[in-house]
Amino acid sequence: MYLKSIEVQGFKSFANKIVFEFHQGITGIVGPNGSGKSNVADAVRWVLGEQSVKQLRGSSMQDVIFAGTENRKPLSYAYVAITLDNSDHKLAIDYEEVTVARRLYRSGESEYLINGSPCRLKEVSELFYDTGIGKEGYSIIGQGQIDRILSGKPEERRELFDEAAGIVKFKKRKATAQKK
Ligand code: ATP
Ligand code: MG
Repeated sequence: MYLKSIEVQGFKSFANKIVFEFHQGITGIVGPNGSGKSNVADAVRWVLGEQSVKQLRGSSMQDVIFAGTENRKPLSYAYVAITLDNSDHKLAIDYEEVTVARRLYRSGESEYLINGSPCRLKEVSELFYDTGIGKEGYSIIGQGQIDRILSGKPEERRELFDEAAGIVKFKKRKATAQKK
């Protein structure tokens, strides 16, 4: 499984629709300060269900919507879609390719889609449990996160090992069953 592409439209500094295509191997994104490199990582975090405005470096969730510039009007929604190659079926879904998308309007209305079908955030989260990819996963290492792992509480560090060992889904199911 690998990330094939990221599509952004109206997300942060990306007013126009842009598709970043990736291939097997390593890709670096370079550019001057403030050109939007971190916004690309934010887009991936966001589409995976990030709910923390602070993590997204904003003060409200609507801050992810393109706010306009001197010669360009603000946009009414933000849209991000990531496409993963799933030919090894690491994701428990019967598709060779999986596209996860999220859209948010200024009104606050929002939606998640898996391969074009509307779904709940829970389904997006479940799809990525134990893959290391989810917003809690270790596939996106933000600035300062290494420090947090090293100096974190043992319970927090444990969550990282649970994810890598592939037992998160069982723990979540157990917790749900115990609530009932
Ligand atoms: P650095 O090298 O300093 O880390 P960077 O390439 O990572 O820079 P980002 O932090 O990704 O840059 O991008 C910051 C830019 O995104 C700023 O110019 C900011 O104005 C712009 N930006 C953020 N949110 C929005 C928004 N909602 N609408 C328009 N522009 C936005
Ligand atoms: Mg940056």
